[in-house]
Amino acid sequence: MATHDVLVLGHGLSGAVLCEVLLERGLRVCCADGALPGSASAVAAGLVNPIAIRRTIPVWRAAETHALAEAFYRRVEKRYQRALWHPLPLARLFTHADEAVHWQAQMAQPDTTSWLSRTTLADVEAAPVHKPFGYGVVHGAAWLDVPAFLSEQATRMRAEKSLIERVLQPEELVPQGGLFRWPEASAPLLVRCQGAHARLPGLVPVRGEVISVHLPHLQLQSALHRGAFLLPQQAPGYYRVGATFGWEDVWQGPNAIAVAALLERTQRMAQQATEPEDGMLRLAEWGVRPASFDRRPLLGQRAHPCGAREAVMNGMGARGVLLAPWCAWHLVEHLFASGKLNAEVDLARTIAA
Ligand SMILES: Cc1cc2nc3c(=O)[nH]c(=O)nc-3n(C[C@H](O)[C@H](O)[C@H](O)COP(=O)(O)OP(=O)(O)OC[C@H]3O[C@@H](n4cnc5c(N)ncnc54)[C@H](O)[C@@H]3O)c2cc1C
Repeated sequence: MATHDVLVLGHGLSGAVLCEVLLERGLRVCCADGALPGSASAVAAGLVNPIAIRRTIPVWRAAETHALAEAFYRRVEKRYQRALWHPLPLARLFTHADEAVHWQAQMAQPDTTSWLSRTTLADVEAAPVHKPFGYGVVHGAAWLDVPAFLSEQATRMRAEKSLIERVLQPEELVPQGGLFRWPEASAPLLVRCQGAHARLPGLVPVRGEVISVHLPHLQLQSALHRGAFLLPQQAPGYYRVGATFGWEDVWQGPNAIAVAALLERTQRMAQQATEPEDGMLRLAEWGVRPASFDRRPLLGQRAHPCGAREAVMNGMGARGVLLAPWCAWHLVEHLFASGKLNAEVDLARTIAA
């Protein structure tokens, strides 16, 4: 009776990665996305940074999520014959001498030693970058070409006539006779990947701005971080700078104060003498991150009284590129191989909290 095995609602990073993982398992998938304003993946810079910069410690499950993410995007690259995952060094510009001392101490810690160094980067040395206290280097950093990944995944779904490109209203999703149905498809399992648009306990929407700038005097292949990241784009001299964090008026962006702060940080990092009016700023974009109350992903499922199952993949916060492959794999193991959900990501904790 069902047209598909799984319906996926949302085709941001979460939904697109999940579709790919489900298709890898040979399942029939139908996805819907209405490109709602404020969606995070549409503006994500794609930076992968396994280190929480201020504390200089690895992010949650850094080694595991990084290995899984790299392997996943490399497989996808092969499938679509397109470069998506671009490793690059990330230079943390120290703001005072103590930071350099702390970095050096962290380099000796067993869980950070493989991620940190004080290697010399030729491009950072040569560029007019403000670095009076030097810099440390994060290894394992990369950027994912998010628009290219989303576009290739969407093309695959379209070719199978399995991408519904419109907003689905709640009343169009009907649970009936052991299936979830929307007008174009039906399946015994629905996975909601709606990002910050979802109504979900524990979800904390956080607005973010990112700007695109042109700095012709700066020729960098490495990314920089000082109060914000400066990420080189493929065209020489072009960079994306981000990102801000706003907890108020989250659906109203871009916020002018946040954009001005990013420009100021860019000027400080790049020793740019010119004013923003001189044309440095090319574009300001914004989106709403689906963060969670405890900064962990939100995964789970429940059985509907009609017999169908409804699951959630959300809470990617500021690290969707790194987290989505691990989350999709973990959720799929839970849904199809009876794997137990890790308590740290289980939605059930939002009820206990
Ligand atoms: C400014 C900014 C910069 C960022 N930079 C980075 C970065 O460098 N690296 C990184 O890893 N992460 C970054 N992030 C975070 C990253 O964007 C998120 O973690 C990730 O994109 C979340 O993906 P998602 O699919 O869960 O949500 P979303 O991208 O918001 O996707 C949800 C999708 O669901 C769709 N949808 C919802 N409801 C419906 C409905 N009823 N019908 C149809 N469609 C629906 C929406 O249209 C949307 O496309 C950044 C975020 C922001 C805001």
